[in-house]
Amino acid sequence: MNIVKEFRADYDAYIIGAGPVGCVLAERLASELNLKVLIVEKRNHVAGNCFDTYHQSGVMIHRYGPHYFRTNSEEMVQYLSKFTGWIPGNYIVKSSVNGELYPFPINLLTLRKFFNDETLDADGVEALLESKRIKCENPTNSEEFVLSRVGKDMYETFYLGYTLKQWSIHPKDLAASVCGRIPVRLNTDERYVDHKFQLTPDKGFTAMFGNMVTHENIDILLEADFGSIRNSIPKGRLTIYTGQIDEYFGHSHGQLEWRSLEFEFKEYDQEYIQPCVQINYPKEHDYTRTVEIKHVTGQKHPHTVISYEYPRAEGDPYYPVPREKNDAIYKQYKSLAEQETLNNNVYFCGRLAEYKYFNTDEVIDRAMNTFYLIKSKYDN
Ligand SMILES: Cc1cc2nc3c(=O)[nH]c(=O)nc-3n(C[C@H](O)[C@H](O)[C@H](O)COP(=O)(O)OP(=O)(O)OC[C@H]3O[C@@H](n4cnc5c(N)ncnc54)[C@H](O)[C@@H]3O)c2cc1C
Repeated sequence: MNIVKEFRADYDAYIIGAGPVGCVLAERLASELNLKVLIVEKRNHVAGNCFDTYHQSGVMIHRYGPHYFRTNSEEMVQYLSKFTGWIPGNYIVKSSVNGELYPFPINLLTLRKFFNDETLDADGVEALLESKRIKCENPTNSEEFVLSRVGKDMYETFYLGYTLKQWSIHPKDLAASVCGRIPVRLNTDERYVDHKFQLTPDKGFTAMFGNMVTHENIDILLEADFGSIRNSIPKGRLTIYTGQIDEYFGHSHGQLEWRSLEFEFKEYDQEYIQPCVQINYPKEHDYTRTVEIKHVTGQKHPHTVISYEYPRAEGDPYYPVPREKNDAIYKQYKSLAEQETLNNNVYFCGRLAEYKYFNTDEVIDRAMNTFYLIKSKYDN
């Protein structure tokens, strides 16, 4: 990576943020359009929230929360394979309830254990759930959604407490999609997600995104905030902005709400502590989950590190808060952003700039689409 110490105004393109979106777009613009690119990043590293690093013990950790890469796109895996090798994704999650561990997302094994009936099969469980479901044709919030899928007992055990801790908002005040993202399976598939490809970069995400931005046309300015260089970018010069959209427009339509997290990393003098990478605590403790990322990185080390995740109202922006008030504010910024693209050649892409929770594969897809849009202008 070519790290530079100072801003210069003679690049063909500027990218604000060295997260997945920034790295993919820098790579595409440099290798496909032969543009000279400067990435400006306020942190001291690339890879955005996918950043992984080594704890003082030597154990690799995911600094901003566990990242389980998955996608259904073979094309994306092929693209990323230019920058990394892979190991299989070992994404297993359990929920701790009254001292017992239950497979999560809910599957047949969870249901057998919860209803204390080892004989339940898919048909039996469907009939049982049908008798528990609280019917709702068109669920408009997360509570209605979960009640209509699994009924009151499971809702109160697995979802209610976790959601309250995570968001500090009652599920009935959260969009149906928040809990709707989690599948309920009537088979014994224990994998956390259903995607065709579940893979972890063999040397980590930081190495993968770092390799992406080694092209000679790409320079990186670290520990520099957009605000400090904004007025030095020549007017109309191609700029891709991946920071917070309301910040870009000086919060002129108000502040968008974000949910934050605090991570506590603790070292233990044994090889493994947990049976799987993630344990959720819907009812116990102040933290929502504990993560032992060694299960995913596959690192061999005599010690282990557990991260304890505490949801917070203040701090770095992690999750957009999906409720009506924020949707309305975002719409106003989106329309300002569209004007800014037309008038000043500034593109807005990614989690912070589009105020939407995207998984890494989804955000890479957004970056590719933005690239094609920019390319179409260069082609004409
Ligand atoms: C807790 C958590 C867990 C997650 N787990 C998964 C998972 O398991 N699987 C998965 O696929 N995805 C996961 N994700 C999603 C994944 O992190 C995002 O999809 C991805 O990081 C978004 O990429 P991005 O480039 O849009 O934003 P980011 O990764 O946030 O990168 C944006 C970059 O811009 C920089 N920046 C912002 N403002 C400025 C500024 N003003 N000046 C300069 N630089 C700036 C930031 O410092 C940051 O480095 C998770 C996200 C979170 C929060």
